[in-house]
This record gives sequence, structure tokens and C-alpha cells, in this order.
Amino acid sequence: MLKDSIRSKASSGTGTKRKKTFRLGIMGGTFNPIHYGHLVAAEQARCKFKLDEVTFVPSGTPPHKEPRKMADSEHRYLMTVLATSNNPYFSVSRQEIDREGLSYAVDTIQYFLDEYSEYKIKIYFITGMDAVMEILTWRNPETIMELCTIIAATRPGFDMEALKHHIGRKNFRAVKLLRASALAISSTDIRERLAGGLPIKYLLPETVEQYIRKKQLYLETG
Ligand code: NAP
Repeated sequence: MLKDSIRSKASSGTGTKRKKTFRLGIMGGTFNPIHYGHLVAAEQARCKFKLDEVTFVPSGTPPHKEPRKMADSEHRYLMTVLATSNNPYFSVSRQEIDREGLSYAVDTIQYFLDEYSEYKIKIYFITGMDAVMEILTWRNPETIMELCTIIAATRPGFDMEALKHHIGRKNFRAVKLLRASALAISSTDIRERLAGGLPIKYLLPETVEQYIRKKQLYLETG
């Protein structure tokens, strides 16, 4: 459990100064559905930024999405649990799913900081580059950038100048980049393949595919 990992690392040592900092990755996304691109990106971020744990936070009610185009939050949560269960450094949080109202990243980040305020904790918010491109339209973007480090995951070859232009030079310096080749896989493509009766094998964990087929998710485009 996340709490136990934080307790055991962040409480080690004696005296405040010697307490170790727990480096927590928050993997934010709709995960509609989760696929290998997300999993590879999270694992690469964990290794590159020396994160102690990555907790996946499936969005509850995103402010920028039409609900009818998304599988129910409980389905997205369970698929995320199935996909991450074999990695001891991964966990899944119900924080956004159980929180009432729209899901704002700033509230999620603040929740983790408050929940573990007695420990030394550093937060890395990991999400897709296309989402980061829009960060200035999110609620309290300056606060987000003060509270945590943003890791923008993108496939190799992405035009970094476009991001710099979009969010400004100063904000660009606050964002860390993660090139993850597996991000050629996309949830949109998987949903379209399912609606079109095409195979999705090897794009996502088998357990997730079985879940999708059993619950008959994504049979319609959108
Ligand atoms: P999105 O707009 O659906 O996704 C944009 C792109 O990023 C897609 O190509 C998506 O690929 C990719 N992506 C999304 N999450 C990713 C991840 N964790 N790792 C790698 N690639 C990822 O974005 P979203 O999924 O709805 O939201 C992403 C995060 O931003 C969420 O945590 C959300 O809460 C946050 N957000 C917050 C606000 C706010 O606070 N106002 C507004 C917008 C977004 P796939 O489609 O394949 O996943």
C-alpha cells in the first residue's frame, strides 16, 4: 500500500533533517482504456526520475471531456488495477473517482501533499504531452507547477518547440520530458479498433482485454 511505502521510506532516519524524501509519481489520465503505452511510460518515468512509487489516478469526471464518450469510472479504475497489479512499484488511487464534482489535477496533487504532510514527499505529476500542452487552461496551473514537477510523456520525434511556444519559455523550464516509444499506442485507436471489430492483442495487457470483452465495452465509436 502507498501509505506503508511512504511510511517506511520517509520515516527512516532520525531527526527531521535525516528523513528521506519519498519521490511519488502521480500518473494522471483517463485510462479509457489503459494500455502498454501508459505502462511503459510510467515504468520509464519511475526509472529515469528515481521514483519510489507511481500511483495511477484514473480521472473521475474530467472538466474537458464528454462523459458519454468514456467508459464508466469504475470500469476504468478496475482495468487500471488489472494492468498494474504485477508491478510492485505501481498502485492505483480512487482519489478522483470517489471525489465529488469535476476532477482537477491541482486538487489531486494537494490531496496527496495533505495526506502525507507529516512526511517529506516530492511529487511528480506524469501525463501525456497533449494534455500538458493545454496545462495553462487547467485550474490554477501556476499552483500546479509550484507544488510538483510535471513529466510530459511523448513519443520520440515530438516537436518540443511547439510545446515551448504553447506554454511559454518559463513554464517550459518547469516541465520534464519523457520520450516513450510505446506511446504510439493510443486509447483512441484501441476504442476504434474495438468498435470496428479489429484485434487489440499486444496493445494492452490480456487481463484488460478480457475485462473489456466480458463487459462489452467500446462497442460503439466515440
Ligand atoms: P487527454 O486529453 O485524454 O490525453 C491527451 C493525450 O495524452 C492523449 O494522447 C493520451 O493518450 C495521452 N495521455 C493521457 N494520459 C497519459 C499518461 N498518463 N501517460 C501517457 N500519455 C497519456 O488527457 P486525459 O487523459 O483526459 O488527462 C490527462 C491528465 O491531465 C489527467 O490526470 C487529467 O485529470 C489532467 N487534466 C487536468 C485538467 C484540470 O485540472 N483542469 C484538465 C485536463 C486534464 P491516451 O488517449 O492513449 O491515454
